[in-house]
Amino acid sequence: MFKRILVANRGEIAVRIIRACHEMDIETVAIYSTEDKDSLHIKLATESICIGPGKPSESYLNMPRIINAAILTKAEAIHPGYGFLSENEEFVDLVNKCGLTFIGPKKETIALMGNKSRARELMLENNIPVVSGSNGNVDNINELKDICGEIGYPVIIKASSGGGGRGMRIVFEEKELEKEFLNSKSESKACFGDDKVYVEKYIVNPRHIEVQILADRHGNIIHLGERDCSIQRRNQKILEEAPSPRLEQSLREELGRTAVKIARLVGYINAGTVEFIIDEEGSFYFLEMNTRIQVEHTITEMVTGIDIAKEQIKIANNMKLSYEQKDIDLQGHSIQCRINGEDIFKDFLPSTGTIKNTNIPGGFNIRFDTYIENNSYISPYYDSMIGKLIVKGENRLEAIKKMRTALEELRIEGIETNIELHYGILHDFDFVKGNYNTSFLEKKLSGDFRDFYLEMESHYGRKY
Ligand code: ADP
Ligand code: ADP
Ligand code: MG
Repeated sequence: MFKRILVANRGEIAVRIIRACHEMDIETVAIYSTEDKDSLHIKLATESICIGPGKPSESYLNMPRIINAAILTKAEAIHPGYGFLSENEEFVDLVNKCGLTFIGPKKETIALMGNKSRARELMLENNIPVVSGSNGNVDNINELKDICGEIGYPVIIKASSGGGGRGMRIVFEEKELEKEFLNSKSESKACFGDDKVYVEKYIVNPRHIEVQILADRHGNIIHLGERDCSIQRRNQKILEEAPSPRLEQSLREELGRTAVKIARLVGYINAGTVEFIIDEEGSFYFLEMNTRIQVEHTITEMVTGIDIAKEQIKIANNMKLSYEQKDIDLQGHSIQCRINGEDIFKDFLPSTGTIKNTNIPGGFNIRFDTYIENNSYISPYYDSMIGKLIVKGENRLEAIKKMRTALEELRIEGIETNIELHYGILHDFDFVKGNYNTSFLEKKLSGDFRDFYLEMESHYGRKY
């Protein structure tokens, strides 16, 4: 087993991975930017090393500095976490060339799945359903007009190298097409350094269901069931649950089988996620594959009892999977709320600064994955997610009640957070019935969200 792993990330996921390493008697190296100099991941790691200033390109995205840090501290492997360099094939190549192990899939797989339009083509070639759309990238407006005329409106223009919900544009009529095509291209260029885009039919009111995969280097591939991530704002996940509250058993099994088939098709190794959307008729379509650990891996851990971060490390160390598909036994129901530093009453404007006072809930089957402490500094340079509140119940209703109670206890002072938004969702009648899709939050925020606010008012004493 590795003696020492460098964690090439920050925040809650760095803390999560460092803990897993220490439980496996593996030493850890934390890297940090000057902006994060007092952050929890540094305190927990065996050794830490500053790699530059706050700007991501000068620190957490700076490949030579990270590799040098690993060599200087004698780390044998690098765990990339999510975001930053986790899906960067050039980084994987560099890590390997320097004689280190990258904890993740092969660079070829990352490159293939990172090009979302190419991944779509591969699925088409293998009879895996994808939403109708372009074959590969679309280069000019006339070609785009022809395709959209054929598939019909609305359509969604997406960045080929995209991620994190960025670079997407929904278009309802042909007259908006040219403007949005150019907008999507320029946003893609700015976010991902690549202006290639492709187009898909926009599915109205879909659900986002994804399947967790584990694959070792010996050809064993299993799935760990699904997660429902349909509670989203601007195509970004806010709350996730496992299993999905409304999924027929036959479809659940088909999604699991399809995800394993896709993983096999691309020679997948390590932990990964296959994302699908399901339309109102119950048909499913491949969306993309994320070749890394995901933010919401936690809820799968809660219902399977499998520590995904540890499995990633064992797989990278050439070990065989400790489970076969038949051993995977899902127990109970888990929900995760992403706690973000943002002002939900000021158009979700990011809120940064120093945390003054916190009260973190505890109790049976309640977990809070975070890097915040009293006096933690929340920097404007990075993602606004500051923690993840996770519960597991014997069934969905118990999980909902546990989450409501935990949210009532959770206090984070000094910055604005979206705790009250989650509280509102957990009390919404449609949510409780499991009657929701990806438009749920947008509809509630613009319409009958008044009820949410009243609910929040009575529990938090704030006037809305
Ligand atoms: P998940 O399903 O794991 O939540 P997301 O797409 O929401 O996946 O991304 C997880 C994290 O990675 C988020 O913090 C997001 O901002 C970041 N991220 C995703 N894709 C990219 C990218 N291409 N470049 C930079 N950050 C990204
Ligand atoms: P990212 O790489 O940013 O995660 P995805 O392709 O996974 O991009 O899509 C993110 C979200 O955008 C989905 O969960 C879904 O809510 C929405 N979305 C993407 N494609 C479509 C589509 N064809 N129709 C409707 N919604 C879509
Ligand atoms: Mg996605």
